[in-house]
Amino acid sequence: MTRVRALPMPTNVHLAVAGRGLGPSEHLPGTNKYPLPNAIAAAEMKLIVFGPPSAGKGTQSQKLAQKYGIPQVATGDLLREAVAKKTPLGMKIQSYLDQGKLGPDDLIVQLMTARISRPDCRNGYLLDGFPRTIGQALAFDRMTDIDLVLNIVVDFELLVDRSVGRRICKECAAVYHVSFNPPAVEGICDKCGGQLIQRKDDKEETVRHRLDVYSEQTAPLIEYYRQKGKLVDIDGSVGIDGVFQQMVAAIERLKKRNSKKQPKSAPRKGEQRSRPSTVPKKAP
Ligand SMILES: [Zn+2]
Repeated sequence: MTRVRALPMPTNVHLAVAGRGLGPSEHLPGTNKYPLPNAIAAAEMKLIVFGPPSAGKGTQSQKLAQKYGIPQVATGDLLREAVAKKTPLGMKIQSYLDQGKLGPDDLIVQLMTARISRPDCRNGYLLDGFPRTIGQALAFDRMTDIDLVLNIVVDFELLVDRSVGRRICKECAAVYHVSFNPPAVEGICDKCGGQLIQRKDDKEETVRHRLDVYSEQTAPLIEYYRQKGKLVDIDGSVGIDGVFQQMVAAIERLKKRNSKKQPKSAPRKGEQRSRPSTVPKKAP
């Protein structure tokens, strides 16, 4: 494992970032408790995935997290976890949830910052459902630098068709689609003979409302990250594998660029100053 231990700077970079404003106990300087098989590749992999509801964002996030050995961090999970643990932050969040609100940006950002300072995030992470507002994005940018935003772009009509045609078996929960995957007999489950129903969530009005909310909420964020040069559009109409391939290609391009910027070998003489460190160096 000396190979991983000799890993030069990316780990330091991340610890330096995560260390800002957080307790020193969160750091694991010099330790090697969580080596990754592909640590060099995974370092500095801080991703955001944007995508409208039913565009397969969850599936893709899961696949990416698995491929690159980084955790998938979802705001919804964090909120539920904080509430369940009854932490001071969790209690505050609970009071907002009770009013049917998500909570103010600074609270969400606090929660997110605490999460990404955990050891499993030291080589990067994938954010799912965050940031949701420009306020969150700005606050988060003060804590850390996102490397890449993968933006799944799909024609909304396609998503409407997919959802509105979906039918679920009342008995066994098997999933059908009136055009793409119809049952042998209309309205009847092939597997158990149960009745097929359309879920409330899949009614056209509901689906369109969800999509409207998404574009309203996300459009300014997409613009924000695009202007920063961090956003890559992903064609979401090409099936699960096609979408995944585009995402991987975008990540590999980023890794290539980063490896050019940051020499993998130990810095040569005279380059020390450019190496970020948690310990400020004193000038001679
Ligand atoms: Zn059934």
